[in-house]
Amino acid sequence: MQQTNEAALSANPDPRGWHQREVHELAAEHAVNPEHGLHANEVERRLVVHGPNELPSVAQRGPLAILAAQFTDFMVLVLLAAALVSGVIGELIDTVAILVIVLLNAVIGFMQSWRADRAMAALKQLAAAQATVLRSSQRQEVPAHKLVPGDIVLLEAGNKVPADLRLIHTAQLHVDESALTGESVTVAKHSAALPDAADSALGDRLNMAFKGTTATHGRARGLVVATGSATELGKVAQLLGPEDRTTPLQRRLAAFGKRLALVVMGICVVIFVAGIWRGEQALLMALTAISLAVAAIPEALPAVVSVLLALGARRMVAVHALVRRLPSVETLGSVTTICSDKTGTLTQNKMHAELVWVNGQSWLPGDEPPGPALLETLRAAALCNDAHQNGGTSAAQDWQGDPTETALVVAAQSGGVDKAAQEARWPRLKELPFDSERKRMTTLHPGPTGFVAYTKGAPESVLLCCASQWTTGGAAILDSSAVIAHADRLAAQGLRVLALARRDHLELPDTNAPEQVEQQLQFLGLIALIDPPRAEAEAAVRDCISAGITPVMITGDHPATARAIAQRLGIVDDAQAKVLTGQDLSALDDAALLLRVSQVQVYARVDPAQKIRIVEALQAQGEIVAMTGDGVNDAPALKRADIGVAMGKGGTDVAREAASMVLLDDNFATIVAAVREGRRIYDNIRKFVRYAMTGNSGEIWTLFLAPLVFLPIPLLPIHILWVNLVTDGLPGLALAAEPAERGVMQRPPRAHTESLFANGMWQHILGIGLLIAGLCLGVQAWALSTGHAHWQTMVFTVLTLSQMAHVMAIRSERDALWQLGLGSNKPLLGAVLLTFVLQMATIYVPALNPIFKTQPLSLAELAICLGAAAIVGVAVELEKAWRRHRGPSPASLAAEP
Ligand code: ATP
Repeated sequence: MQQTNEAALSANPDPRGWHQREVHELAAEHAVNPEHGLHANEVERRLVVHGPNELPSVAQRGPLAILAAQFTDFMVLVLLAAALVSGVIGELIDTVAILVIVLLNAVIGFMQSWRADRAMAALKQLAAAQATVLRSSQRQEVPAHKLVPGDIVLLEAGNKVPADLRLIHTAQLHVDESALTGESVTVAKHSAALPDAADSALGDRLNMAFKGTTATHGRARGLVVATGSATELGKVAQLLGPEDRTTPLQRRLAAFGKRLALVVMGICVVIFVAGIWRGEQALLMALTAISLAVAAIPEALPAVVSVLLALGARRMVAVHALVRRLPSVETLGSVTTICSDKTGTLTQNKMHAELVWVNGQSWLPGDEPPGPALLETLRAAALCNDAHQNGGTSAAQDWQGDPTETALVVAAQSGGVDKAAQEARWPRLKELPFDSERKRMTTLHPGPTGFVAYTKGAPESVLLCCASQWTTGGAAILDSSAVIAHADRLAAQGLRVLALARRDHLELPDTNAPEQVEQQLQFLGLIALIDPPRAEAEAAVRDCISAGITPVMITGDHPATARAIAQRLGIVDDAQAKVLTGQDLSALDDAALLLRVSQVQVYARVDPAQKIRIVEALQAQGEIVAMTGDGVNDAPALKRADIGVAMGKGGTDVAREAASMVLLDDNFATIVAAVREGRRIYDNIRKFVRYAMTGNSGEIWTLFLAPLVFLPIPLLPIHILWVNLVTDGLPGLALAAEPAERGVMQRPPRAHTESLFANGMWQHILGIGLLIAGLCLGVQAWALSTGHAHWQTMVFTVLTLSQMAHVMAIRSERDALWQLGLGSNKPLLGAVLLTFVLQMATIYVPALNPIFKTQPLSLAELAICLGAAAIVGVAVELEKAWRRHRGPSPASLAAEP
């Protein structure tokens, strides 16, 4: 049905710019009715013609690039060169075996990177921007990349403009165009054509909204005139450079790895020289030294850390936390303060009106029909209201929008005032949208004396604009302080209180300035809404407190409401708890705030711009702050916080973009669950580092100490590389699946500055490494002295198996393996069993013997190897028992399952 002039759409043959032309012309050209939007089939068709609404970005790393990256390590290249040289002059079998192992290592590295990349791509997908469109007369949320020219987009404050739009209709729309023009002032937009503005600068095209800019205020409807790279942003966008994907922890590990590499190389040189000095073959010694360097230099640590972080971030989606920046996973583990909004995060945001208070009388929804004063109050509540209807019926549950407003629609309905019917009769002519600084909104409609303005908002804010009390008989004297006192009483019960007012106008005010329209109002009444606390929030607050994290409520709501809810949730424990208001905040200078901030857990009537001061003061006190926010003005505070947390359901694009984490369910408990995950992931990174480094330390000690105790070189290059392959590969990664330690949420947050190697990790790495070496060399010496010809196979086996025993034992920093249960990390158990089978294969499969230079061990010899490996497990268990005994386990530890 819809005939589109394709040439017209793509080439804009009219020499005039979009901004110079009338909306109806453009709508006709795009074959769309701005009241109904495109039809779904037509959208599909246009999507094929115009392609997705995306900017060209650097291509994702392809599999080949990831694979190639595995071979760029300098030491691996040296090893390959040495293996080739030795192959040319010596045994080819060695060379091939080494090549194969290096290749397998690369494959494992590849799989890790691939999984990490996949996990990150999946997260990106989840975080993709949405747009609200009108299609087939229905309001819909669609992914922004699915927009096509001709789509009708509905913009609201906080939206990111999803494509280039010619504005059809605006209500106080202000747009921040700094992303495009560099100008950091917001621009007021309108919808009239600008015929004379031939080639005006982008910033002057006031009837256009451009992709990539953000609506900061008001609302609008716009026609999509360009998508993807055809947009102005697309024209200027350089190919986005690859973003820095490393996290602070990775960078620290990489720097540490470099220093350690020098030490390891020094040791390798010593081993090489000692070997030559003892008359070993130079090439063999060179290969041994290089293999050891490859095995023991922890060059893969940063990569594995990113795998653990990315997989962890992927898992966090299961608890409804979407991490937008990988470093945040690390930071989450050390959060000390969580500042949360109240409405919707701590409370359910499912509101209903408890009572309406007019002329000193309370009316409860469901009571007998209201009198005229009440009717006028309900009419104000219905008309000064942005809730909108999706279905055709006017049933209460069909109203959508801000829960505060839908609750008002429902309350009006129960008093016989139907919003749809009212609107048909008294359509909205003009509006001053709500903002959280003014804390009120006003709409203008036709009225008995010409026009009427209805205002609703926070009581103290609305009463400030009221001059009298409205009655059916005309204006009466208003006792503001009595109204405020009653509002306070209602708020102290935890109710959310709104005030309503009205004013007759003879003429429609020709200004949008709130200070001129919102004055001389006549007060109508109060409406008190219930917004019950979320059931799970109370437990989450308790978890926070036991985890050494301070929960703080920051709300735009009334201090008494805030205190009542905070008390109900356990954020504060007495009804007299101090609440700091936005006004108090303005009165305090930064130094004074610094002194107060650690004693205050509830902030009320705070406007978003003040949140940043609270974050900064907390940070100056050394706190690591997670802060929630959903509005445009929350963005600076979200950026400033250590973890900015935005709302996935209710929040704005602007907040989401500034945040490092998005709550998919807008729930406070999710933040706490994410902190718990963050702690678990950090613990597991530590476990991996402990495991891998102890293994390396064991290998180094073994090869370094052998000549000192007059033993022959215990291991061949192929053994060293094999041990490195099988031990680091599977079991190491399976540590990512390790469940959280018992009591993760009963210990204080880790200090942000704490080293990864804190709490005795160094001593463990050196000590247990030394023990492993002692066992290897002990077995070697014993076998040599008793004439066992298989001594080298035995050392090789002890080295592999002791690492398996080690990895099982270090699954917890405190708890014994039998407390954890063998089956509580099945991937790890599987990896250990597989490694064991592979090791047995190198010994007992005849075809592998010449490759690995091994011989089948007798049962007794194997038993000795197993026994030696078990000693490592026992030693780590003793270490943990000592830790449990020494560190007084918090009494509450036992409480955690
Ligand atoms: P939180 O900051 O915890 O989310 P909040 O929703 O109360 O709480 P704001 O949205 O800043 O925070 O609202 C501040 C105050 O403005 C509210 O307490 C209420 O009195 C008033 N208010 C909120 N929504 C509206 C609205 N749609 N129309 C008029 N006034 C409103």
